[in-house]
Amino acid sequence: MSTPPKPKLHPATIAAQAAGAVDPASGGVVPPVQFATTYLRDENYALVNPDNMYLRSHNENTRIAERVLSALEGADETLIFPSGMAAIAAVFRTVPTGASVLVQSQIYWGTTKWIRDFCARRQITLHEVDASDLDAFTKLCRQTQPDLCLVETPSNPWLRITDIEATAKVAHEVGAVLVVDSTAATPVLSQPLAFGADIVMHSATKGINGHSDVLAGALATNAAEAGRWQMIRDDRNEAGAVIGPMEAWLLARGMRTLPLRMREMSRNALALAEFLSDHPQVEEVMYPGLPDHPGHALASQQMQGGYGGLLSFVVKGGAEAALKATGRLQLFHRATSLGGVESLVEHRHTIEPHTGIPEGLLRVSVGIEDIEDLAADLAQALGQ
Ligand SMILES: *Cc1c(COP(=O)(O)O)cnc(C)c1O
Repeated sequence: MSTPPKPKLHPATIAAQAAGAVDPASGGVVPPVQFATTYLRDENYALVNPDNMYLRSHNENTRIAERVLSALEGADETLIFPSGMAAIAAVFRTVPTGASVLVQSQIYWGTTKWIRDFCARRQITLHEVDASDLDAFTKLCRQTQPDLCLVETPSNPWLRITDIEATAKVAHEVGAVLVVDSTAATPVLSQPLAFGADIVMHSATKGINGHSDVLAGALATNAAEAGRWQMIRDDRNEAGAVIGPMEAWLLARGMRTLPLRMREMSRNALALAEFLSDHPQVEEVMYPGLPDHPGHALASQQMQGGYGGLLSFVVKGGAEAALKATGRLQLFHRATSLGGVESLVEHRHTIEPHTGIPEGLLRVSVGIEDIEDLAADLAQALGQ
């Protein structure tokens, strides 16, 4: 008797059940944490469990989190790293010395800064371009023939939207791989691999974990047999950029509610963006869910179920007015980062004063609190 094929499960089901992870040994409905750094061999010196030899390469908690992410992302393989930056570094270490790379400008500042330093050290020529401008990206890509292109969409903190399908096509024309930092979207709202990206990257510290208590990163691909991916996989195992078992367990636990959280955060963010758009103290709102955002149509095509919890807005009156408003906020925590259940606000110009960020820009990571409380807090902080 053949077993009927399993129905293709929806993201909420995959996430809530951690892609089927239970503990067969105890019957527990959640997996245990496996802290072992090394694993037993039997009297014939065969591994008791052939999947497990040493923690740097093998841990069931990491594999569980990777399985959930692969299923949500529609990826053949996912590798988890101890931070988003470790994931980016793992990709860039595959670029040969002397090659060039094309990287989106005005993205997450930590990425830009590290890539600039790394490329200078390694004699890699770095080209930066506003990749949300497809013509500019296409021109520079054809001109410079890079080994690798990196785009970030939606971008942090400008909320620019880059056309993944079109940039992938242009990158492939010149033999480059396209890496997409999809942190702000998470695999729930966007699956860049389906649009032709070769590798999708996440800071799992953000929405994927969602509780501001785990530092992690992820890379996923549908070309697990590609030489570059094997290089990344070997490098992680051998150079040891791995996450600890407890963090992996927490990550898998956090992801159980990822679709639910992203839905609520997106709904709250859209409502706040609309509220801010009408506010007399606000000069500009950057949120791809707003119909007048320049990337709205594109975001609607390559994202589903919402536009995420990240939004930026510019307060009238520059740095002074923006800092005054943040100082008055009672509910929003003044802190960096994004994607957690609690709402955060950040004055980005204080952090990166020389990158063109408007002095009055406030980046908000909208959480899952009640929208009325969030809107009331912003209203009183902006004053009228
Ligand atoms: C936070 C962030 C990173 C870096 O991730 P870490 O987990 O902090 O190392 C990379 N890209 C984006 C878009 C981010 O927001």
